[in-house]
Formats: sequence, structure tokens, C-alpha cells
Amino acid sequence: MSVLPATSRAWHLVSRPHGTPRPEDFALRETPVGAPAAGHLLIRNHYFSVDPYMRGRMGDTPGYAYFPPYALDEALVGHAVGEVVVSNAAGFAPGDHVLHFGGWREYAEVPSGEATPVDTDGIPLTAYLSVLGMTGLSAYTGLFEIASFRKGDVVFVSGAAGAVGGQAGQLARLSGARRVIGSAGTDEKVRMLVEEFGFDAAFNYRAGSVSDQLRQAAPEGIDLYFDTVGGDHLEAAIGALREHGRVALCGAIAQYNDVEPPPGPRNLAQAIGKRLTMRGMIVTDHQDLLPRFMADVAPWVRSGELVWRETVAEGIEKGPEAFLGLFRGDNTGKMIVRLDHPATGAASPSR
Ligand code: NAP
Repeated sequence: MSVLPATSRAWHLVSRPHGTPRPEDFALRETPVGAPAAGHLLIRNHYFSVDPYMRGRMGDTPGYAYFPPYALDEALVGHAVGEVVVSNAAGFAPGDHVLHFGGWREYAEVPSGEATPVDTDGIPLTAYLSVLGMTGLSAYTGLFEIASFRKGDVVFVSGAAGAVGGQAGQLARLSGARRVIGSAGTDEKVRMLVEEFGFDAAFNYRAGSVSDQLRQAAPEGIDLYFDTVGGDHLEAAIGALREHGRVALCGAIAQYNDVEPPPGPRNLAQAIGKRLTMRGMIVTDHQDLLPRFMADVAPWVRSGELVWRETVAEGIEKGPEAFLGLFRGDNTGKMIVRLDHPATGAASPSR
């Protein structure tokens, strides 16, 4: 067994952000590392995830937080992958790699029932935070379960160079979409969508009106809109949707830091005449899809047919910055924080 440190570090939320969170809203604190209680595991985290939904848990904005708010002055939580270093539970042994919810910290003690063993044979550990993790399942759920994807659909995905959006667009392509269109915030991301992810068309939403650019990319309209952004993107999609079009309302990142209620899509009434179906989703309601998701998507991951990107921030110190970067578009693909454990040097390879 490797030698355990006496203490380890964890990020705490120390004040509730108003508008865009600031670095001062977070504090890196030391806590003792001890032997795990009966039925628990002590896990050394290699990577943890930062996600837009965490913004809702940090504040008290009604409507955006679909999980209870984070407690102040306690370690933040979220998905993480790591290695069991001490097991006090049947079925787990030191060296096992697991996915769990004790992120934002170097060492986590978790009940064994909340840790999921992961298969790292041919699949990097980080994939369980991205393409085979919560964001991957969100893309799959939104496309197939919420928006009832059909072969031949013309699909528009916003936030398409992000973790969920990039995967939703590719899943649509791999499943027989007629045309897949994506939007993203830089020309480089737009190029990547077409050249690497195989989108048929993409545009930079900062370069002009979303409605105009969408009309140009899909002159005959769209059948399905996968929304990760809200605001002007949702309004443009409502305008472009054809009769009986379907919308997966997955995220509205453009609005998460708003301090005033944003104006609604001005053209919502079009949903009536077009008989649109617009359905919200929370991925945790759809864990039953996990076996089907893994069976469908893991082979595409192994074969390389599904391409994914990760942006990896180095070191626990970067946690809040990585999180804040989501709202600036610093990431391409999944934003992940890598933890350095120089004493052991144990970190799995990443792309
Ligand atoms: P992500 O897309 O990997 O990262 C966020 C991206 O959003 C940034 O890279 C940035 O890319 C874009 N962005 C930031 N501010 C923006 C703005 N004002 N307007 C347009 N784009 C903006 O994050 P993710 O984890 O895949 O999540 C994407 C969305 O899905 C989020 O809204 C998230 O809350 C939601 N989500 C929902 C569920 C659910 O269960 N409902 C589950 C997972 C995720 P650009 O450079 O392109 O601007």
C-alpha cells in the first residue's frame, strides 16, 4: 500500500456568487486523511470534473438549480475518477479504478455503494468524465430519449464544441441524420466541428446573428434542436424548426450567470402553429439508459468513430479557474482538472 499523506486539499465554496462567480468565492482547504469507515473506500483522485450545472448549485437562483445548493464552507462535490488506496468494503481492492462523486479534492472517502468500477482496458480514465460519463449520457439521452431522434433528421446543436454538444452532433451523424449543424464561439472550434467531428456545417455565433447563420446553414429548416445555450440560440432554433420539430432543452449556459430574468424567446408562439415538442431533461432521471448507452457508444469510442476532446487543467489549484473557464469558452470538449500526485506519479494518460 502506498504511504498516505496526513492531510489533503479540497475546494470549498465560501460565498455564494452573484452573477459570474469570482475566485474569492472558493477556498482551498486542508483536511486530515484517515482510514475509511466500515463499508467505505479511500480514493486518490486522478481527475475531477467541472460542469456548468455546478453554477446552479453555487447560487440561490430559483429555476436553474435542480440539485440542492452546495453548503458553504464544505468541500464541493462532483464527478471524479481515481484509484482505491484503502478498501474497507467487500468487492474493492487497492488499485481499482472507480468513478464516484467526491470530486474537487485530492482524496475522497466514499461509501462503496457510491463508487462504480471502470474498465480502463483501451479506454482512458478521463473518458468516464466525458464521452462515457455524465456528459456523454446527457448527449445520448437528449438526442434519443428527449428529442426522439429519427433517421433523416436535420439536427442543430448549440455549444457544439463542448462536451455534451460535440457528442450529441456526432451521435446524430453516426445514427443517420440527414444534416448536422453546430454553433460554437470561435472560428477554430467551428473548423474542428466540420473537419474533425464530421458536422455538415457549423458557424461562429459571435460572428453574426444566430438566426441568419442558422438559416444559411439549414435553408430548408431543421427537425431537431439540441439546446445547451438557451437565449438567442433557442429563439433562432424555434424560427428554423419545421412542423412537428423537436427540442431537447438540455442547458441554457448563456443565462446561468444572469442576475435578472432573461427575456423569453420572443417567438415562442410559433411552437403552437408548428406543433413543436420542447422537453426539458435532467440526465440523472435517465440512469436506466446507462447499459444501452454503454453498449451503443463504447464501441464507437474504441473504434475511434466517435471523436472527443478534453481540456485538462493541471493541478488542484486550477479547479475554480477551470470551472470559470466554462463560461468564457476556454474549453474544447470536456473540461477536466488533473491532480498531481508526485509522490506516486500515478495519473492515467489523457488525450
Ligand atoms: P461545455 O459545453 O463543455 O462547456 C460550456 C461551453 O458553453 C463553453 O465551452 C462555451 O463554448 C459555451 N458557452 C459559454 N457561455 C456561452 C454563452 N453565453 N453563449 C453561448 N455559448 C456559451 O459544457 P457541457 O458540460 O457540455 O454542458 C453544456 C450544457 O449542457 C450546459 O448548459 C449544461 O448545463 C448542460 N447540461 C445539462 C445536463 C442535463 O441533465 N440537463 C447535463 C449535462 C450538461 P463556446 O466557445 O462555444 O462559447
